[in-house]
Amino acid sequence: MAGPCVFCKIVDREAPAEIVHESDAVLAFRDTNPQAPAHILIIPKEHVPSVRELTAEHGNMMIELVHVAAHLARAEGIDESGWRLVTNVGPDAGQTVYHLHVHLLGGRRMGWPPG
Ligand code: AMP
Ligand code: ZN
Repeated sequence: MAGPCVFCKIVDREAPAEIVHESDAVLAFRDTNPQAPAHILIIPKEHVPSVRELTAEHGNMMIELVHVAAHLARAEGIDESGWRLVTNVGPDAGQTVYHLHVHLLGGRRMGWPPG
């Protein structure tokens, strides 16, 4: 990894974030450039660049990460209206931060296919 990772800095409390959930393995905080009324990023505390680097050892963490998303969707009041999980991998998908993160999006009608 070249240079400091902004999401590792958030994990280490060296960069600010509006944290909405934390456990030993997972952290969730609000996206600073929200694309929907509810836009939360859920990340592993361990630095993994994207889902393409996941191994079987990350299985429990990833299950927890998805459970946290479902919990936060309820907490945000978007469980009934619907929500979307997105994880971008690489340039064509528009990944800009190379620390695995899942976007939880909801609170508005979303298009399909995504742009
Ligand atoms: P991606 O394009 O999938 O890599 O998404 C990166 C996301 O991280 C974007 O939606 C950014 O708005 C968001 N982001 C970047 N820096 C921060 C930060 N310091 N705190 C919260 N969200 C951030
Ligand atoms: Zn990182």
